[in-house]
Amino acid sequence: MSDDKKQQIVSSVPQTGFIGHPKGLFTLFFTEFWERFSYYGMRAILVYYMYYETSRGGLGIDRNTALAIMSIYGSLVYMSGIIGGWLSDRVFGNSKAVFYGGILIMLGHIVLAIPGNVTLFFISMFLIIIGTGLLKPNVSSMVGEIYRENDHRRDAGFSIFYTGINLGAFLAPLVVGTVGMKISFHFGFALAAIGMFLGLLVYISTRKTNLGLAGTFVVNPLPPDEKKKLMTRFSIAFVILLTILAITIPTGMLTFNVFKGIIGILGILIPTLYFIVMYRSPKTSAVERSRILAYIPLFIASVMFWAIEEQGSTILASFADRRTKLDFAGIHLSPAWFQSLNPLFIIVFAPIFAWLWVRLGNRQPSIPTKFSLGLLFAGLSFLVILLPAFIGGSASLVNPLWLVLSYFLVVIGELCLSPVGLSATTKLAPTAFLAQTMSLWFLSNAGAQAINAQIVKFYREDTEMLYFGVIGVLALVLSGILFLLTPKILGYMKGVR
Ligand code: GLU
Ligand code: ASP
Repeated sequence: MSDDKKQQIVSSVPQTGFIGHPKGLFTLFFTEFWERFSYYGMRAILVYYMYYETSRGGLGIDRNTALAIMSIYGSLVYMSGIIGGWLSDRVFGNSKAVFYGGILIMLGHIVLAIPGNVTLFFISMFLIIIGTGLLKPNVSSMVGEIYRENDHRRDAGFSIFYTGINLGAFLAPLVVGTVGMKISFHFGFALAAIGMFLGLLVYISTRKTNLGLAGTFVVNPLPPDEKKKLMTRFSIAFVILLTILAITIPTGMLTFNVFKGIIGILGILIPTLYFIVMYRSPKTSAVERSRILAYIPLFIASVMFWAIEEQGSTILASFADRRTKLDFAGIHLSPAWFQSLNPLFIIVFAPIFAWLWVRLGNRQPSIPTKFSLGLLFAGLSFLVILLPAFIGGSASLVNPLWLVLSYFLVVIGELCLSPVGLSATTKLAPTAFLAQTMSLWFLSNAGAQAINAQIVKFYREDTEMLYFGVIGVLALVLSGILFLLTPKILGYMKGVR
């Protein structure tokens, strides 16, 4: 986007009016708050909805299959960010993409709210995957648009937005989780739909006054003839895909395991192709090439980190349900409530970390070291959760405080890696690819969950210690390697700090 346009956008956004920040941040904050409320609310009960027997209101899917579906689902949600980012960049602009995304997400939750069968569940998954791909990367990009380039409030703006994400993620398991687990899963999903509806309401009713021209420009519009060509190609590809599905599903060629394998391959292949295209592009300068090389180990570390973090809503959710003493201190805990711990710790500790980094100034750890710390704590969070089985065996129920400790440790890692990860991606990606930065960053999470889908089958109560142990130690080893490579990576970063 030209500097002129950027200027025009910023001038159209009231620059104060929301806790000392541009008014537009209010709109983006609450839109994303409600979107995450619906997403994490749905995920807090979905896993149980899938594997609980039909007599308990569930779908009665085998538990390990349910855990794999959760991971495939999560992976596709972040993979589709590429499509959402591209559509916004070349066809709709951010603002429309967010709106369409919100509508699809709401419809997805409404479909889940209808008591039904596995078919409805898959339709809902499709809607939410495409909807989140349209909404999530684009709402985040708009946060960047409402500040002047050198506005000192910009970083704080992103932190406030990040708090909004986690506030939604914190409240959702308590509200959607409680209703979903205690009354009916479908009432829970209906609440998730209402959450997204409220998000859309905030967005539609305040975007004109608060966001001005932000999100209304298509940055790199497709020329009309190319649009036509692309539409034809898309339609042909869609028909071919449908034909392949129509042949392979009924004939039993496309089994769940094959599909899972395909997602696993895509999770690794797509980022690899991304790196190759960026590296070989004639628009990429020599310095930028070096920075891409520096980014690769950070990306791999990030995949390992999210693999552990995201198992908080799959493996650890199952652990909360089946291995944890839920009668604690006189109250009966719902297993879904444990999903609130991660975002709660984020909200509490994010300001402390922000303060710490400012306080340390130039003495704060470098980006690679922060990634290495992120992995260290993620690894520890898995090693801690194997201890109760080590001490008391896997037959007796575990004190819930072990889970609290595990979620706490992963959050310490998350605060070292996640906020810095996105900004590192922005700084290290070549300028010609900046529009896709957000999608590139989300690909590390997509890759992580694609891998998770392959490995969750190794988790059983009798293999629990081995499972947590192997993954935990692997994270520590990677953390050590990254730490040793730090000086080299810093060299390749060519001045980026
Ligand atoms: N919990 C984060 C969110 O929902 C994860 C996204 C990421 O991979 O950065 O925004
Ligand atoms: N911490 C996650 C994210 O940053 C939220 C969660 O896992 O509940 O949004």
